Amino acid sequence: MRRTGGRITFALILAAGLAMPSDAAPRPGPQDLARAYPQSIARVGDGKVVMRNGQVFAISDGVSGKSDERRLNAPDIDDMFFEAYVQGPPARPPSGEPGRARYEPLFNAMYGDCSRGGVRLRRVAWMPHRHGGTVLFATANGADRALEAVVRDLERLPPDMTRFLVPAGGTYNCRKIQGTPRRSMHAYGAAIDISTRYSDYWMWSGGEGAAWRNRIPMEVVEAFERHGFIWGGKWRHFDTMHFEYRPELLPAQRRQDPAAP
Ligand SMILES: [Zn+2]
Repeated sequence: MRRTGGRITFALILAAGLAMPSDAAPRPGPQDLARAYPQSIARVGDGKVVMRNGQVFAISDGVSGKSDERRLNAPDIDDMFFEAYVQGPPARPPSGEPGRARYEPLFNAMYGDCSRGGVRLRRVAWMPHRHGGTVLFATANGADRALEAVVRDLERLPPDMTRFLVPAGGTYNCRKIQGTPRRSMHAYGAAIDISTRYSDYWMWSGGEGAAWRNRIPMEVVEAFERHGFIWGGKWRHFDTMHFEYRPELLPAQRRQDPAAP
């Protein structure tokens, strides 16, 4: 009798766990691309992303059961959404790499190819009330205006937070991700590294298998996430100075942004 009762309790706990949603908002998918990048994308449907410049990309390459490595090195558009990016405090240590799979032809089409000088950039004031100078940022899809909205929020944080932010570590840089054939979001002018002084990067922490570490306050992370940026601190290969504009991975909460449609 006791054994049966124990099994029922166990089954109920299991069922409750399975029924619990992993996060409150509906999980983003390819359909969110049109909402996130209205300037570049005309529509998403019938298994395709149709760009305003006439290019058409298939959402799926038809390859199933990709390894984690293949999903990073040869992703299709579907793979960009395979791992959910969850807002708020990170799992410690993070087990995945949400947002690191990027289908490059799509980003090349949206931001331009930096190796051909094709990325349109603008100088954006970085923490102007805290002597942060300016940084170059992409203008496509209002990425520059989203960064300005982040700056407005960051400047409301207490003065002792300045040390995490100023000087900025860098934005536009036409390069591949170190040790990979993949183009960094810095190559599109749509990523910013905040101050390197209090940042932790897996390669600086001993390389593969480095223990996750973070000193960046969540208030900083939340200011970026509110305006469509994801944080490299949520990756197993952590990079806590790194924020990149990926509004397709975050819920549509950006309506108060001047960048939002
Ligand atoms: Zn970076």
